[in-house]
Amino acid sequence: MRPLLRKLLAPRHMEYLILDRNLNIQELSIGVDRFAENIDDVVDGNDVRVSFPELIGLEEVLDNILQGYRNSFELKGLTRAVRANRSKPLYFDVNIMSDEDPERNQERLLLLFEDVTERMELEQNLVQRGNEASLLLSALNSTHDYLDKIVTFMADALLVTTADGTIKTVNHATQALFGYSEAELIGQHISSIIPSQDLWERVQHAYVLGQTDLILNAEVNCPTQMGKAQTTIAFSCSAINSVDLHSHDFVYIGRDITELKQVEDKLKSARAIAESASQSKSLFLANMSHEIRTPMNAVLGMTELLLDTSLSDEQRDFVDSIRFSGDALLNLINEILDLSKLEAGEMQLESLEFDLRNCAEEVADLLAPQAQTKGLEIVNSIERNVPNRVLGDRNRIRQIITNLMGNAIKFTSTGEVNLRLEVISRSKNADTILFSIIDTGIGISPDQQKKLFLPFSQVDASTTRQYGGTGLGLAICKQIVGLMQGEIGVDSNVGRGSIFWFSVPFERPCDLLPPERLNSNSLAGKRLLVVDDNANSRSAICQLVSSWYIQVDMVSGGTEAIAVLQSSLSEQRLYDVVAIDLDMPGIDGLTLGQQIKSCTEFAELPLILLTTVNQMDVTRKAMGTYFAEYVFKPVRSARLFEVIEKALGINQVTSALEQAMTTPKSLSPKSTSQILLAEDNPTNQKVAVRLLEKLGYSVKVAANGQEVLEQLDRNPYDLILMDCQMPLLDGYATTQEIRRRQGDRRHTVIIAMTANAMKEDRDKCIAAGMDDYVSKPISKDQIQAVLQQWGK
Ligand code: ADP
Repeated sequence: MRPLLRKLLAPRHMEYLILDRNLNIQELSIGVDRFAENIDDVVDGNDVRVSFPELIGLEEVLDNILQGYRNSFELKGLTRAVRANRSKPLYFDVNIMSDEDPERNQERLLLLFEDVTERMELEQNLVQRGNEASLLLSALNSTHDYLDKIVTFMADALLVTTADGTIKTVNHATQALFGYSEAELIGQHISSIIPSQDLWERVQHAYVLGQTDLILNAEVNCPTQMGKAQTTIAFSCSAINSVDLHSHDFVYIGRDITELKQVEDKLKSARAIAESASQSKSLFLANMSHEIRTPMNAVLGMTELLLDTSLSDEQRDFVDSIRFSGDALLNLINEILDLSKLEAGEMQLESLEFDLRNCAEEVADLLAPQAQTKGLEIVNSIERNVPNRVLGDRNRIRQIITNLMGNAIKFTSTGEVNLRLEVISRSKNADTILFSIIDTGIGISPDQQKKLFLPFSQVDASTTRQYGGTGLGLAICKQIVGLMQGEIGVDSNVGRGSIFWFSVPFERPCDLLPPERLNSNSLAGKRLLVVDDNANSRSAICQLVSSWYIQVDMVSGGTEAIAVLQSSLSEQRLYDVVAIDLDMPGIDGLTLGQQIKSCTEFAELPLILLTTVNQMDVTRKAMGTYFAEYVFKPVRSARLFEVIEKALGINQVTSALEQAMTTPKSLSPKSTSQILLAEDNPTNQKVAVRLLEKLGYSVKVAANGQEVLEQLDRNPYDLILMDCQMPLLDGYATTQEIRRRQGDRRHTVIIAMTANAMKEDRDKCIAAGMDDYVSKPISKDQIQAVLQQWGK
């Protein structure tokens, strides 16, 4: 082995073989056998072709090298399979050249083996990567083509500009939309086709601030080549990094919304027309209401006056009919007005503090005579936990209860109508109250119930129907309850009766009032016996008096009452007071009173008569005999409390609250002072003057605002009843002038008396400086109540 050759070959991991002319191995490097096909045959003297079969067939080439006809020969890319000592295939090149044998002085063959496995692997990797790269490239190209197609053929116009606004890309839709070719558009400034200084400035601004993710939207009227004068295009613009990543491009996407705009404009004008039509409708209704109320005021006022004169029975009957029909007409006007306001979304609810218990009791009180005439029992059952003071719209709550109770009375011929109030849920600052109006009337079938709350729907819609009405009441109630965030519904059985219910959340007032007298415990521990044949009425009274800590027993008739009273004597559990219903089957209230009082043991026992307004004569008589006090049914809590206190001789001190409620707001009473009536309509002048005179007031009349001011100069009236619509100077202007002239020196009470019945009208009067408001047609009671409130 030649040392020099080894030195040369070792760093390159090369091996060698030297062959004699017969191709037998003459010399070999130590590691050369790893290149051989048959390792064991790589030994001196062996034919090289046994271990390297690749040389078979190359004898002529080898001979040519030995002869000097050829310098060398190279075998490249030979390979050996994986073997036990090798985990991967071996690749090698063989370089064959002649070599002189110095000993024999003749040519022989030198075979140099070079391991090229690493290089081959690198090459293979390279080829693989190359293949992958070209696959990726083609995928990229198809994606690019695909995106290009999307951009080119998308329905929206797409423009890309450089940061300074020069257009660099447009798609087909852009060309179609603006009517310019691609060549005409490229290189132009964007503002030449989107003439929106604003959009361009905003884009620039965003760019300066580096808001690359910003998308701006704008609707721009663009001139186009397409013959259309103006095309409205909705643009969005966003910034993207440009290809070189050193600046930004802007992408504009535009869509022709000209037609959409036209439709929108048409819709807007249609809406404006509809709104003005609805406004005209409301205005018309308000005017009609005013126009109808003015003569109605005369009709109803004159009727009331006529009823106070001496009339024959027949005449009184006629006048009663006029009044009844007038009231019905007025109710109808009010309902139509309400419904139109609700439908126009113009009904505004108040949120003022009011006494809920009182409000419910008042309605029941008002409707009781009508029910009691029919022989119906009216019962108020207001549960103890129902708050007295709540925030809400008192008048609207009143209106709903009136409607539902009115219906219940109308559709019930025997039995009772029960008004029940209970708390069904409480939250941090509100209580939800359930109002139920329960009757024992004709009932409503399930089918009919579905239609109940729709306007103009009546169960019996025939013209010959038994019960009158407009079919508007429930529809109005439903809408008002809806405005109050409440719910309304009905449960009913034909022939058995109905429960109309509604629930409304009421906020609690934040200021705490001093405790009411009804909450004092002056009656605590007293013993009361209630005698009433009606179970609901009994339990309503029981519930009420229990809240004052009275111990109460109940019986349903006279015989039972006498027995209970007798045993109270023997058991030494004496009653302090007995409440007796006037109208009971068997022993009636008066007889029972007489029977009780005829026992000497009960001579001092105070008796309270539970009676009705319709039985005033009997009641009066009873007061003079066995009964100490009376209470009208349905029983009102304040009245019952007061009457029990009186009957027991408990000292009554009017509470501060009651005083505050009853003390007039301003004037000290001056019944002798004159009232000035401002009214232009002669008939209505007559009605008002006569009503006021009947009430004992002295009245002067002014026919317009001008006259009011003149008369006020001559005589300092304390109170003016002011019509709003008058010639020369209307009521509002007159009030403003009076307030201006009087300043802080004096305050003449001015009460609007007008046929304008909308809530806004009331607000307008108060805003003009008036103190109060009554709407026409005015009734004697109404005018008296308001004058009394103002100390007259
Ligand atoms: P109306 O003015 O006709 O009473 P409403 O809207 O108040 O209008 O009532 C509609 C209809 O619902 C009534 O005509 C009647 O047929 C039916 N109705 C309402 N309340 C009751 C009730 N308590 N009992 C039976 N039917 C009722």
